[in-house]
Amino acid sequence: MLGRGEKLTPAPTLAERLVQNPNISASLRQSAERVIAASKDVPVLKCKNFSELQIYWADNYSVRVADSIKKLHFESVRLAMGGVEKMILEFQLSGRLLNAFNTRRKNNAPMCTQYGGRYVGKPNEIYFNPDYFDKAEHLKCLIMGAITGYHPKNSGIFETGAHEMGHIIEDWIAFKHNGTFKDLDNEIFARQIVQSAFAKAQSTAEGKDKSVTQMKREISKYALKSLSECISEAISDYVANGENASILSKEIWKRLKEELN
Ligand SMILES: [Zn+2]
Repeated sequence: MLGRGEKLTPAPTLAERLVQNPNISASLRQSAERVIAASKDVPVLKCKNFSELQIYWADNYSVRVADSIKKLHFESVRLAMGGVEKMILEFQLSGRLLNAFNTRRKNNAPMCTQYGGRYVGKPNEIYFNPDYFDKAEHLKCLIMGAITGYHPKNSGIFETGAHEMGHIIEDWIAFKHNGTFKDLDNEIFARQIVQSAFAKAQSTAEGKDKSVTQMKREISKYALKSLSECISEAISDYVANGENASILSKEIWKRLKEELN
């Protein structure tokens, strides 16, 4: 166990082990390499066990990591937390609107997020679904989702963490504008972000003549579900693909940067 204030030393991550495995597919290798590159700027990926994760989140962000998470697959949890921290660092959020990581079986999805908690006296929490996060094999659906287009191309566990933090970012925007629970529930702020990003995207060569539905579809199928999911999927797309992300994802990312930084 690591004492407070001690320096974390790098441990071989899941991504590092994957790239050394000759039997993985080219796309999985590419994802692993991308995660390694990203991890240089995401310190949480250096934690070596659950105790370190708990200390790290408490010390740096005052975020609680529930003990129930300790039963899950460590590398997968850490990778998803890496995506969460990436967003905190990108948007200088200091994690103030995220209170905890916890476990929950809900929505038949690997992860989900409780946001807008301050309106109803609840903490904002990011949940790991134990039905998926108990074993690395159970998370293959995320890689499949990226292949079928249900989720953005090249996205995986890391990007799912970034996606969930995207919901907290929407909450942060509502907070900044003194929005009410109804505003958040009606996706007022998400609508403003998506609409202005769409207008910008249409004025580019890449986005010309495309409808908003077409543009959302280029992010992923799941981006069509709601405006909130569109923003979170755009984040996942941008984190996975950078300048190769879809045009609407790139414009949504820019709008979020303008809004929050
Ligand atoms: Zn979501």
